[in-house]
Amino acid sequence: MSFFESNSSEFSTYVLGNAPVKQLASGFDWVEGPVWFGDANCLLFSDIPNNRIMRWTPGEGISTYREPSNYSNGHTRDRQGRLISCEHGTRRVTRTEYDGSITVIADQFDGKPLNSPNDVVVKSDNSIWFTDPHYGIMSNYEGFKSEQELPCNVYRVDPESGSLSAVVTDMECPNGLAFSPPESLLYVADTGAMFDPDAKRHIRVYDVSGDVVSNGRHFHTIDPGISDGFRLDTDGNIWSSAGDGVHCISPAGDLLGKILVPELVSNVCFGGRAKHQLFITATTGIYSVRLNREGV
Ligand code: MG
Repeated sequence: MSFFESNSSEFSTYVLGNAPVKQLASGFDWVEGPVWFGDANCLLFSDIPNNRIMRWTPGEGISTYREPSNYSNGHTRDRQGRLISCEHGTRRVTRTEYDGSITVIADQFDGKPLNSPNDVVVKSDNSIWFTDPHYGIMSNYEGFKSEQELPCNVYRVDPESGSLSAVVTDMECPNGLAFSPPESLLYVADTGAMFDPDAKRHIRVYDVSGDVVSNGRHFHTIDPGISDGFRLDTDGNIWSSAGDGVHCISPAGDLLGKILVPELVSNVCFGGRAKHQLFITATTGIYSVRLNREGV
C-alpha cells in the first residue's frame, strides 16, 4: 500500500517513497492544534473534549502538559518562542510566559465576549491573528454551550497597543489560517456548518500589506471533506487537512497530491530536526511523516 497519492510530478519529489505515515499515539477523543517545540524536543497538541493539552516527546511518548486546558484548540508560538493558545472554555487567546504564568491576549471585541477562538498565527511584526468561529460554544462537548454575541470574524491583535481589529468579516465560519512565506497573502479556511453535506469547504486568500487586508477571493475548494487547518512549506505550498488525509495545494491553487491518513485529519504542523517532519492531528490519534520539504 502507498501512503501517498500523487497528482503531479512535483509532489513525487516532495514525498519520500520509503517514509511511512506513522501513528505516534492514540486514545484521544478529538485532537487539534499541534505545535512543535524544537528547543524542548516535543510536540504539544489539544485533546479538546478531554480538556487537556498533551505533550509527545520522541522516544518517551505521551504525557500531560496542561489539564484543565480551558478546552484549548489551536496553538502557535510567538516570535519570542512563547506558547499562544486559543481557548474555547474561556473564549479567549492567551500567552504562556516563560515562568508558566498566563497572560490574556484577547477575550472581547466591541465590549462583547469572543465566540471560541479556534486557530492562531503570529506575523513577523509580532501581531497575533486568530479566527473566532462559534464551534466551541455550540455544545458542551468542546467547551461550554453559550449564546453567540459576535459574528465569526478573523481578528488581528496590534503588537503595540494590544487592541483588536476585525480584519476578515466576510466568512461564515473562519477556521484554519496561515500566511504565505513573504506574508503578502493570508489564507483562511471557511468550514461553515462543518458536517453538513452543503457546508462551506473552501480556502479563501486575502492580500496583506502591513495591517491592511483586502481583495478576498476564492482560492481552493477541498474535496472531499473540509479544511480545518493547514501550514505552508518554504515554497508556499499549502498542506491542509481534508476528508481523506492531508492535501498538498500549490500557490496557484492546484491539488498536487495527498498524504492518506486512516482517521479524519484536523490540523498539521511542521517540526522535527529540520522542520521536515509533518505532524498530523487526526481524531483519536497523532501521526507523522517525514517529507522532502521544510515548513516555513
Ligand atoms: Mg480548527
